[in-house]
Amino acid sequence: MSQPLHCVNHPKVETYLRCNKCGDPICTRCAVLTPVGYRCRDCVRAQQKVFYGDFRPVHYVVAAAVALLLSLIAGWLIPSLTWYAIILGPLVGGGIANLAHRAIGQRRGQYTWLVVCGCIVAGALPHTLLSLFTLLSQPLSGLMGLLWDIVYLATAAGAAYAWLRPGRHG
Ligand SMILES: [Zn+2]
Ligand SMILES: [Zn+2]
Repeated sequence: MSQPLHCVNHPKVETYLRCNKCGDPICTRCAVLTPVGYRCRDCVRAQQKVFYGDFRPVHYVVAAAVALLLSLIAGWLIPSLTWYAIILGPLVGGGIANLAHRAIGQRRGQYTWLVVCGCIVAGALPHTLLSLFTLLSQPLSGLMGLLWDIVYLATAAGAAYAWLRPGRHG
């Protein structure tokens, strides 16, 4: 049996654990179990900083480009399917959020949800304008079109927000 070590944070506590990154002896209270083994809190914190620090404004641009392209297609297609929008809206919104998030390597940005939701709104504009124009000549079908635009917008943006909202990943 090797000599017990003493925790770097609690010198009176004996331990056989070491952080597998920096090698510091750590007690069970200080150890954090990560997918790659036990680490001290300092190393875990440093790792998280790298993870967040990796996010750059360009990632918003990439996420926006992907989200806008998909939103333009979905925003035209889904509301014209009338009541299917109720079912497809949340699916499509979550899908757009998922793909935009993958396009930036699943990086976390504080405002990614805002960018994606903004794109979903922008993507729904062409069909909403069409509905408004229809409203002038055929009030009833224009009104129905507008209704499905709103249904699609609310459900898709809601699902995208639920997917990307800050703190979702802990
Ligand atoms: Zn460490
Ligand atoms: Zn300790």
